[in-house]
Amino acid sequence: MNGTSSRIVIVGAGIVGASIAYHLARQGQRVIVVEQAHPAAGATGSSFGWISEGVPEGATDVFLRREIVADWVRLTQEIPELWVNWSGALSYGQAPATQNPDNRRLSSAEVMALEPALGLPDSQAYFAARDGAVDPQEVTQRLLERVGALGGELLLGRAVSGFLREAGGQITGIVTEEGAIAAERVVLACGTGISALLDGSEFSLPIEASPAILLRYHAAAQAVNTLIAGDDIEVRHAQNGDLLAAEDYPAGGDVKRVEEDARSAIQNRLHGSAPLQLQACSVGLRPRPRDGYPILGPLGVTCLYVAVMHPAVMCAPTLGRLVSDELLHGVNPAIPHGYRPARFIDDGGEGGDIIAIAGRFALDTAQPPLSLYPYAPVYKIGEHVLKRTRPTSGEAQALAAYLTALHRQGVDVVAPTACPQEIAGSMWVVYPFVAGEKYAGRDEQIIAAGRLLGRIHALSSADNNAGLAVYDEYALTEDDISADLDEIASHAASQGLTLDIEALKTRMLQIAGRQTALSARGLPCVETPYDFKADNLIYVAQDRPVLIDPDNALFLPRVFDLALVLLLFHNALDSAPDRVFTVREWRLFLTGTVSLSR
Ligand SMILES: Cc1cc2nc3c(=O)[nH]c(=O)nc-3n(C[C@H](O)[C@H](O)[C@H](O)COP(=O)(O)OP(=O)(O)OC[C@H]3O[C@@H](n4cnc5c(N)ncnc54)[C@H](O)[C@@H]3O)c2cc1C
Repeated sequence: MNGTSSRIVIVGAGIVGASIAYHLARQGQRVIVVEQAHPAAGATGSSFGWISEGVPEGATDVFLRREIVADWVRLTQEIPELWVNWSGALSYGQAPATQNPDNRRLSSAEVMALEPALGLPDSQAYFAARDGAVDPQEVTQRLLERVGALGGELLLGRAVSGFLREAGGQITGIVTEEGAIAAERVVLACGTGISALLDGSEFSLPIEASPAILLRYHAAAQAVNTLIAGDDIEVRHAQNGDLLAAEDYPAGGDVKRVEEDARSAIQNRLHGSAPLQLQACSVGLRPRPRDGYPILGPLGVTCLYVAVMHPAVMCAPTLGRLVSDELLHGVNPAIPHGYRPARFIDDGGEGGDIIAIAGRFALDTAQPPLSLYPYAPVYKIGEHVLKRTRPTSGEAQALAAYLTALHRQGVDVVAPTACPQEIAGSMWVVYPFVAGEKYAGRDEQIIAAGRLLGRIHALSSADNNAGLAVYDEYALTEDDISADLDEIASHAASQGLTLDIEALKTRMLQIAGRQTALSARGLPCVETPYDFKADNLIYVAQDRPVLIDPDNALFLPRVFDLALVLLLFHNALDSAPDRVFTVREWRLFLTGTVSLSR
């Protein structure tokens, strides 16, 4: 590629801009990196540099994190002068919020062996052996040196103030005080500077600047062997032997006080450590997209491309690889839909416009589809199903992570194909469409359904590690009971049946009177999709049902989940018997459930 129009301009020489520039340059692409100050002048220069692939399934950056260790290893093979210290990370204070199997609990003797200076009387300590650390400033520098060696240009001290436009308004490059630079693509990798740069353009992206503190101490001798992250200190050595500490920014802004407290905490915690001399204390503004998810992708159909996320140091090699592939070869499906900037682009308030909502997930449909389900919006679009999911972002993310984890363990349940997105006040999600046979009440179908639910129960944690909504409905009142029974009586009358409503009411009130005692019983609970009914199963083979409507998932007493199956499993489906399970059918169902459950 030659000539001005084929070059890619990257705005920002933090670790994100440097990594994208390097990954493009190593594939022969002409790049120009334009930086208002100097390399790593932003958050990167104040970063702690921890690399940790261990992250909960529902984490916003999980799709990148899974690959970061492999990408750092690759990068150090490509650039041998890069220093990554794979020391592992020792954490204490609280159990790490991760399912990383590599993160194991340490005995006191193991803590002593790893970190002899660490005074840790009764604390639980964990060790993530695959964690490491880099000096982010050095990495940025090394990456940019490679860019230069591969023919790229680095323009320092040049603030980008806007975009070069053609007469028709089309963006064709950038504008700096020193002049304009035309480009085929412009990558906005300028962290907290992105929002300001987009001001006055047709786009706006909510990127917050979140301050945090990096302390650098001269250390006369090695104080720690690993990266230590506790509830009182977070420390590691830099390549030159300095001791680095990361701290939260205080609400009142008293950074000096934070430094003094951090220093005494380090010296109390690390026995026998020499007095620490402060070398530098810097506050970095971490760029954080408002919804927590990375923003990676083109802005509309312009030449602008955005790359911003948190935490970006550890993800930089993966991000650089994925983004450069997309810039050079077109849409990269490895970048999830939920990371696309399109989620922030105004849809004109047309939340009900299903075509616009589908577009947010890159699903194309010319005609508004009809809902597959009468009671909620569930749309089949191509080989996908677009539907509304749990009401809040937190619940929707936890559900997505729970289903993905089940799916990965071989459970036949649909899992989202893209991150849930908040659109016009609701959360939406996309599942694969599952084609197959409806339930018809055959014995083998009942046994297989029981086996599926039993497997799900067996894989559940005992204390809701998945973070699902918790069943909390021990609040049935006399009014609720009367209203329900009135409705039941009127349905019964319309069918020519008479019911002894008073006797039913007495019985229901007796049951409701035991709610408090029942809630205090501590019944064994499970994470479960709940609502396990035959109309939510598609049989892809005679003995293989797939659960397709898992959005009601809850953490609730297992016996309640089974009770719902017993009463409602197949009476809402016209392809099944119009009644509750017989005793024989219930036993068939339980053969699978009981044999596989905890
Ligand atoms: C104390 C602290 C500890 C941290 N610890 C970790 C950690 O352990 N692991 C981890 O992964 N992350 C960590 N982070 C977060 C991490 O540092 C950031 O996510 C990352 O550095 C962001 O990189 P960036 O390249 O997107 O942004 P930046 O580093 O901020 O780079 C943006 C660059 O763009 C330039 N720029 C801005 N506007 C313009 C403009 N108009 N024209 C030209 N140039 C412009 C800036 O000068 C800057 O150099 C930490 C951050 C801090 C502050």
